[in-house]
Amino acid sequence: MPIQILPPDVTAQIAAGEVVERPASVVKELLENALDAGARTITIEIEGGGRRLIRIADDGSGIPAAEVELAFARHATSKLRRADDLDHITTLGFRGEALASIAAVAHVTLTTAARGEAMGTRVRVVGGELVSHERIGAPAGTIITVENLFFNVPARFKFLKAETTERSHIDGLVTRYALAYPDRRFRLVHDGRKAFEGGGTGSLYDVAIEVYGLDTAREMLRVHGEHQGITVSGYVTPPHITRANRGQITLFVNGRWIQDQRLTHAVVQAYHTLLQVGRYPMGVVLMALPPEDVDVNIHPTKAEVRFRDGDSAFSAVQKAVRGALISGAPIPEAQAPGTPVTAPRAAVPWSPWQAADDVPPAAFQARFPGGGPAEPPLVPEAPGEDGGRLGERLPILRLIGQVGATYLIAEGPEGLYLIDQHAAHERVLYEQFMAERGQHEVSSQALLEAVAVEVPPDRVAPLETQLPLLNALGFTVEHFGGHSFLVRAMPAAFARQDPAALLNAIADELETGRAPLEREVERRLIVRVCKQAAVKAGQVLTAAEMQELLTRLEACQSPRTCPHGRPTVIHFSAGRLAHEFGRT
Ligand code: ADP
Ligand code: MG
Repeated sequence: MPIQILPPDVTAQIAAGEVVERPASVVKELLENALDAGARTITIEIEGGGRRLIRIADDGSGIPAAEVELAFARHATSKLRRADDLDHITTLGFRGEALASIAAVAHVTLTTAARGEAMGTRVRVVGGELVSHERIGAPAGTIITVENLFFNVPARFKFLKAETTERSHIDGLVTRYALAYPDRRFRLVHDGRKAFEGGGTGSLYDVAIEVYGLDTAREMLRVHGEHQGITVSGYVTPPHITRANRGQITLFVNGRWIQDQRLTHAVVQAYHTLLQVGRYPMGVVLMALPPEDVDVNIHPTKAEVRFRDGDSAFSAVQKAVRGALISGAPIPEAQAPGTPVTAPRAAVPWSPWQAADDVPPAAFQARFPGGGPAEPPLVPEAPGEDGGRLGERLPILRLIGQVGATYLIAEGPEGLYLIDQHAAHERVLYEQFMAERGQHEVSSQALLEAVAVEVPPDRVAPLETQLPLLNALGFTVEHFGGHSFLVRAMPAAFARQDPAALLNAIADELETGRAPLEREVERRLIVRVCKQAAVKAGQVLTAAEMQELLTRLEACQSPRTCPHGRPTVIHFSAGRLAHEFGRT
């Protein structure tokens, strides 16, 4: 093919592809326009995950009648005049590309009336072509409706994810903007049902309650700091409220939501040793700095920025979050590096050896005739160190007692066993449930009274999608509207558990945007439910409870690891003990 300049409809589509990747990108651009227009109230209506319809109504400045058509031209903006204006952008938009790009790949209707003008305007643009323009009466503000997104870009349309995925992207976006603009009121409606409403009071805490739920919001720590001209504010979760990925760490710079791995890392690093491996906090961190210290013009969707001084941005975030953790939650001694974990709450008398009259190590064998000691290993045998032992059953154990309200101590024919009560219980529950499931006889138990459970807004869609699976697992759960689900029955194995805690644990597992195989979802959910239901470290158990746990663990197929693969049992052989005490 000879070299040619592309016709405008082709360049328009290419350019649109950069800005409009999916329905959530349309929502983002239109939200930003509403915020730039000074709107106090913004209503977002979505149908079909945004493919069928996106409508955003605002009560902002509106567009003067004479400028409406121009607003759809590429590089047409009221927010920028000259190149050096780029150095101190204070609006969210400035490229003048959004309306042009959206209109190139959808059917757009814009109704707007500028404050102070008697009449409003309505235009309709289809695939970049103006098809109608009329003067009409309308209240001040703007309503823009985007229908049939990607109707003329089949390649893009094909790549759209499931409706629920697109929906959760939109939910995530709107709730994040609500957190960054607590003085504006946001209302989000999916297919006629309210999904989120919050803000307008100016209090970030009020929005946090709507976004994270009251229980989490109540525990969140206020971030507040200043470092080298950068102000940092927001809320983060304390170390015990975490998620499995970084997706719930939200950063805003001068009112703009940005993705920045380094700053996300600054947040995580502030927790230092406080988080378990693989867990991440949630929160919203808002940075404010002089516009000339940050370049916002480096990314087509303005999702990334460049700081003039990246190191001080990093320090500002890290220090502020660290400060929140230190003042809000004194760092527990147990979690300091190198310190062994001790019982978090109740002080438990350390008495197991007395309970079991004096047991010299050499006597282990005598108590368990038939069991012979193995070669003395030099280190405690944690399962996993030696693959061959992983699936091995446990011998019959004799309970000695509980230590630190966290571990059980038992003796067996081959020495001393330390058992992690939480991990062991997880294993027991998991095998019991899987056995029932394998025989298709998971029994369900109806609750005396149905319980309404609130989940975070971004979990509503994923949870709704998995309701059939939950019901197959012995739950009876239905969507109750908004963020609420109604739990009517639970699997009998978990009948004594708190329905709210269990459902929230499940929702937590169904992280946004992940759509693994059905079987994998099922396994993960079961593992998660078992974890939630298992006795916790720090929980004092009666002798009968401990005995029952031991007996059930002995009956397990793979008693030596929890369903996550961590050890449940550490074994000190008689030989090892003798060796340690200098007897051999
Ligand atoms: P940008 O936001 O980068 O300027 P857009 O294509 O998003 O570019 O919008 C073009 C122009 O249309 C804006 O500069 C603004 O003047 C006007 N506009 C768009 N949406 C709104 C709105 N909701 N309220 C008022 N004016 C708007
Ligand atoms: Mg814009």
